[in-house]
Amino acid sequence: MTGHDGPPSCPRCLAGVCEVHRPVVDRREVAVFVVSGLLLFSGVLLVYFTPYPLAGTALLLAAAVLSGYEVLRDAFFAIIHLRFSIAVLISIAAAGAFLTANPAEGATVLYLYAIAEFLEEYAAGRAERSIASLLDLAPQTARVRRDGGEVTVGVGEVAVGETAIVRPGDTVPLDGIVTNGASSVDQAAITGESVPVAKGVGDAVYAGTRNTDGYLEVRVTKPEEESTIARVVALVAEAQAHTSPTEAFIERFSRYYTPAVILVAALLVVVPPLAFGIPFLEAFYRALILLVIACPCALAISTPVSMVSGITTAAHNGVLIKGRDSLEAVGLARVIVFDKTGTLTTGRLEVEDVVAFGVPEAEVLAVAASLESRSGHPIAEAVRRRADEEGIPARDVEEFASLTGRGVRGRIDGVASVVGNTGLFMEIPGGAWQAAYDRLESEGKTVVLAGTDSAVIGLLALSDVIRENAKETVADLRSRGIRTVMLTGDNERVGEAVARRIGIDECHAGLLPEEKVTMVEQLIDRYGPVVMVGDGVNDAPALARADVGVAMGAIGSDVAIEAADIVVMEDDIAKVAYLVALSEKTVSVVRQNVTAAIVVKLGIAALAVLGLISLWMAVAFGDMGLTLAVIVNALRIGRPAGVPPS
Ligand code: ADP
Ligand code: MG
Repeated sequence: MTGHDGPPSCPRCLAGVCEVHRPVVDRREVAVFVVSGLLLFSGVLLVYFTPYPLAGTALLLAAAVLSGYEVLRDAFFAIIHLRFSIAVLISIAAAGAFLTANPAEGATVLYLYAIAEFLEEYAAGRAERSIASLLDLAPQTARVRRDGGEVTVGVGEVAVGETAIVRPGDTVPLDGIVTNGASSVDQAAITGESVPVAKGVGDAVYAGTRNTDGYLEVRVTKPEEESTIARVVALVAEAQAHTSPTEAFIERFSRYYTPAVILVAALLVVVPPLAFGIPFLEAFYRALILLVIACPCALAISTPVSMVSGITTAAHNGVLIKGRDSLEAVGLARVIVFDKTGTLTTGRLEVEDVVAFGVPEAEVLAVAASLESRSGHPIAEAVRRRADEEGIPARDVEEFASLTGRGVRGRIDGVASVVGNTGLFMEIPGGAWQAAYDRLESEGKTVVLAGTDSAVIGLLALSDVIRENAKETVADLRSRGIRTVMLTGDNERVGEAVARRIGIDECHAGLLPEEKVTMVEQLIDRYGPVVMVGDGVNDAPALARADVGVAMGAIGSDVAIEAADIVVMEDDIAKVAYLVALSEKTVSVVRQNVTAAIVVKLGIAALAVLGLISLWMAVAFGDMGLTLAVIVNALRIGRPAGVPPS
């Protein structure tokens, strides 16, 4: 369904949700419904209440052909290719009704069926429009600085590197970096969170977010179609088009099912008259009802319409779900695995203690900060900050190497130096440093050692801050019967301390990145489907191995948005509980819909076999009515009740 009919840079076309280049509601279709509805109505009047039944039948035939044109055509092509489709069932039923002198019923079957189809399309279109409405938040024009003046141009014409002017109350036109000014920006369009975020020089701002009170100059970093919001919309549109296992099942199912139904209907025409003496015409009529009722349309849409509703709602709340199967899997998962640093904790570490052995403290910091100057780890950041504060300059490092999950090493002034966890100091017997190490660790701090190949020169103890809401989120998950597990590369004691404070059920510490992957595999073996929540960059391998990988705080990181199955735009751990609640609700609505569809169908089929229901009622309730009910139920997922938007 992704249309590329418009210009290649139209982000709505790329997302398949463009109303300008590809309108959603087809006026002709509406006209067909009105005209065939009138024909149907007057046909029924003529047949039953006037002495001109033949004229009425002609009108009904016209109504049938007009409203059922597509179904009849599909059925025709299916039959000549010896395939059986739903259209075949409906067409046989309608034709049968006309042949057995029930023209009103024949026309009604086709008319109501067409309406049911229309409702389905409308429901799908509604979700797409709802996603497209995110794009509408991004303005069509931007004010940019050119030749010393200020001009207003279409966002598509703004080049990367130009400066956009964003006044108070304006919406940011394109993704970029603030080069001048300061303000609070409401990022609800992307994160679903409307509490404004402070932005100053050097901060990233995103198209579609609203500048509240300050003046900003923004250097544009991405063209319109690559903006974060355009990518979100494109990814959601793609997710909506994906097929989930349940749907695939129904599809496969109906291939054998349709011919089976025709066979049963044929038996129903032959057997009862012979066995029970039921009049042939009556038996034929009941068989027609069976054909109509066997049409699994409401059943077929019950799952996708619910999934799309869930995905769309999530997107509006800053949670990007990239596939329906992910949504389903989260709703079924009994275990959620969290990474510690940066996920359950803020990852903004602080160096609390520096302990030196035989050298000045400044020397320990100097060595550590020099090695860490090349690392992107939160520990490295904290160490550099501390050295800066104390005015200690970084020295040159040669032969630098980063040992993921362990530390960093390099040569300073010709001396091989290391900063990292005890794993790197295996061969060095615990001497004077061991006591200090144990003491700091027992205070729940992350302790790293600094030293050379042969001696430890000092310790750095860092503390991290547990995220707001982490405890509540874990408690919420527990109340839903979900087991929480924490994985960390940090030491056992820190891991245990954090796990205890947050209320995590199970903690595995001292893991290297590849051991995290093995751990995820073990958890899958033990508990079934596993959802893993991490930062999407450091934890990429474990996220990829889990059944569903959830990347947190991905708003600024294209890598994380691309890599994870589910992306939480904002750095808010409570969104994990929101995601689980939404997924569980979606899964339960899917179950309700599928169950309702099967029960109603079976009920009507039973009534049909007993001859207690008429053909048009079967379509009205069993198809159109059921389709409507299934859609309305699915839309309930989007309503706030039951799923607090965190
Ligand atoms: P987590 O699993 O908690 O996110 P990591 O796997 O990123 O932690 O790191 C695990 C451990 O490896 C850290 O606790 C630290 O001891 C050590 N480490 C990793 N990178 C560095 C670094 N750049 N400097 C010092 N120590 C490091
Ligand atoms: Mg980490």
